[in-house]
Amino acid sequence: MGTHPGYMDTPKGMLVIISGPSGSGKGTVVKQLDTDKGFALSISMTTRNPRPGEEHGRDYFFVNEEEFIAARDSNGLLEHAVFVSNLYGTPRDYVEKEISKGKIVVLEIEVEGALQIREKFPEAVLIFLMPPDIGELGRRLSGRHTEDKMTIEQRLIRAKNEIKYISRYDYVVINDKVELAVERINTIVLAESLKPNRNPDLIENFKGDEFDVASFILRIDELTK
Ligand code: ADP
Ligand code: 5GP
Repeated sequence: MGTHPGYMDTPKGMLVIISGPSGSGKGTVVKQLDTDKGFALSISMTTRNPRPGEEHGRDYFFVNEEEFIAARDSNGLLEHAVFVSNLYGTPRDYVEKEISKGKIVVLEIEVEGALQIREKFPEAVLIFLMPPDIGELGRRLSGRHTEDKMTIEQRLIRAKNEIKYISRYDYVVINDKVELAVERINTIVLAESLKPNRNPDLIENFKGDEFDVASFILRIDELTK
């Protein structure tokens, strides 16, 4: 938590959405956001199979379709969407709990889910992460060695569609270098945390008894001693 009112210290919490084409580096960048600065990363539920090295409860909650539908139908998901034949959704409890603690909760989700969040929480901050160029997107996606050629093709088609929605986002961040992308996201969150509507208490202080001009003038000699 920072020292200046509002600096990474969001009394009401903040919901930050990171979207972007598959392979743009969302997962890589989001993992570098500093929990000491108040970031809390939501873990999604999905029906897709784990990739080598992915862990249940750390990267995703890997579930079957029945389990996913049960969570969705009991209002357990904040948003959900289909992405290249699999279901993905954000478990509601974690997000609500961390927001109420004043955390900056990060959802790494695709466009359809992001727009559902914008409807429900207009104050959410929507960030679109882009690779420096399309060639680099293809290189990163195939270089990850986690999908076959057909899945890569489907993900690139989806990427082409998702990019059409950039104008619905608040910010676009280029992921040329991971540390620069992280710095840009930190800067966005800092600026957002300084907005008047995120600091109602600060403004309230200057309206009330604390800011009584007459008594202030009477005490001015004492205050400036
Ligand atoms: P996404 O979560 O958006 O699908 P990943 O985080 O899995 O993307 O990144 C895709 C691949 O690109 C990974 O192999 C990752 O190591 C690599 N990558 C991510 N960011 C960068 C970057 N700034 N420069 C070079 N490679 C990157
Ligand atoms: P991947 O299979 O590469 O991990 O994720 C595929 C896509 O699903 C990515 O665009 C990722 O951001 C998105 N995604 C991951 N979790 C969620 C979620 O909970 N909800 C939605 N709507 N999309 C998600």
